Amino acid sequence: MTLRPSQPRPLPSLDGSSYYAATAHPRPAAAELQGDATAEVAVVGGGIAGLCAALELARQGAQVTLLESGRIGCGASGRNGGQALGDFACGIEALERRLGAAAAQQAWQCAQQALHRLRQRIAEHAIDCDWRNGALTVAADARQAAALQAAMRHRQQVYGATHLRWLEAAELRQHVASSRYRGGVLDPMAGHLHPLNYTLGLARAARRLGVTVHEGSQVLQLHGEGGRHVLRCAGGRLRAARLLLATGAVPGAPLARLRARVLPVASCMLATEALREPVVPREVAVCDSAFIPDYYRQSADGRLLFGSGAHHAGAMLHDGAERRRRLRSAMLRVFPQLQDTAITHDWGGWIDVSVNRAPDFGRVGAAGVYLQGFSGHGLALAGLAGELGARALLGGPGSCPEFELFARLPHAALPTRGWLRVPVGMLGSLWGRLQHTVGG
Ligand SMILES: Cc1cc2nc3c(=O)[nH]c(=O)nc-3n(C[C@H](O)[C@H](O)[C@H](O)COP(=O)(O)OP(=O)(O)OC[C@H]3O[C@@H](n4cnc5c(N)ncnc54)[C@H](O)[C@@H]3O)c2cc1C
Repeated sequence: MTLRPSQPRPLPSLDGSSYYAATAHPRPAAAELQGDATAEVAVVGGGIAGLCAALELARQGAQVTLLESGRIGCGASGRNGGQALGDFACGIEALERRLGAAAAQQAWQCAQQALHRLRQRIAEHAIDCDWRNGALTVAADARQAAALQAAMRHRQQVYGATHLRWLEAAELRQHVASSRYRGGVLDPMAGHLHPLNYTLGLARAARRLGVTVHEGSQVLQLHGEGGRHVLRCAGGRLRAARLLLATGAVPGAPLARLRARVLPVASCMLATEALREPVVPREVAVCDSAFIPDYYRQSADGRLLFGSGAHHAGAMLHDGAERRRRLRSAMLRVFPQLQDTAITHDWGGWIDVSVNRAPDFGRVGAAGVYLQGFSGHGLALAGLAGELGARALLGGPGSCPEFELFARLPHAALPTRGWLRVPVGMLGSLWGRLQHTVGG
């Protein structure tokens, strides 16, 4: 088996000045892969999915080497809104349509399990990442409010999600100091955290369990040789009996055919100075129910962390000042009282959006698996996906029913080159709107 190298087009850097990077716990740099090395399992990608897979593989006694092209957490895992939610980007309704009622029940349990495992991991590995329970999904108009209430009732009636609670506009105002919303759903089991410190904590735990981590080690080529996977990086080669790919949205993913199934969509965030009067309590993270949502929460040091999607991706992608200006306007639409509040940081990242916005898991040859397509809902789910992928990899086909459940989902592909992928953020936004309009 030979898997062809791909020549991906680099995405614009959205590094900016990340609040998370500025408040990250100290971390040792991991050496680049040099020379020839061997491992039982090679994991590609140092985000939440790859690290949780490595943790589970090591827990099961496998000898694991993880290759990360940049630094641990440099992808979406270290840049995101920090909101850990118990649902899917496509909504459980889309999974009902595609998989049937019984499988959708299993998928729902997985989403709840993903949250539960995230909290367990934080406790088990003593990860200092400012975890807080509580998330609100809010509606900006009557149509959104009706849809949100109907979705909540569906989850209560069909999935037993009796912990979800509807808040009328007046009660919502006690949580969120904005007159913009008509109501919202409170999920006390969801929550929020500092995503980079969570990801770095996972990496520390993986190293403690014996996982070898190489940063600055982009996998440039993959091929099979003598029944082994051979991963070539600039400085060396790794041979491994098994392979797990968790490469997110960036186009450095080694397999063109996988890259074609996710489109990178930009989302950007800002941090304000610490607020004298908080606009949202520490206890809840907030996300609106627009297709490309505004999302925000209070940081441990009292700032507002505010994110917004790719409405204006073209301008936001290439011009940092423009990005900051547009993010600030989005924030002021929700909280006009922050007119004189200083913006201290802004940054962005790339989200791996699949065509139907459902997770995309599968196999690569006989001894490989991949995990992608979290479509902006991966903070909790990517962790569980890593664990499921690890079990499916060690146990072989059919060994992990939850992995197989997601692997059954059909996914479409787009060309990996040419005009259809340019400009990435704009097209991603357009594509997402189209999917939303036609019901995913
Ligand atoms: C701005 C933003 C806000 C978001 N907000 C939320 C939120 O509030 N809640 C939520 O649930 N989700 C959110 N998400 C999505 C969430 O962050 C992702 O779903 C999740 O982090 C995916 O994890 P991952 O491990 O699959 O990917 P990543 O974290 O992207 O990790 C993939 C890693 O693979 C590495 N890699 C890629 N190719 C190669 C290669 N060839 N060789 C070696 N390494 C390679 C990359 O460098 C990267 O570090 C957000 C995303 C962004 C960008």
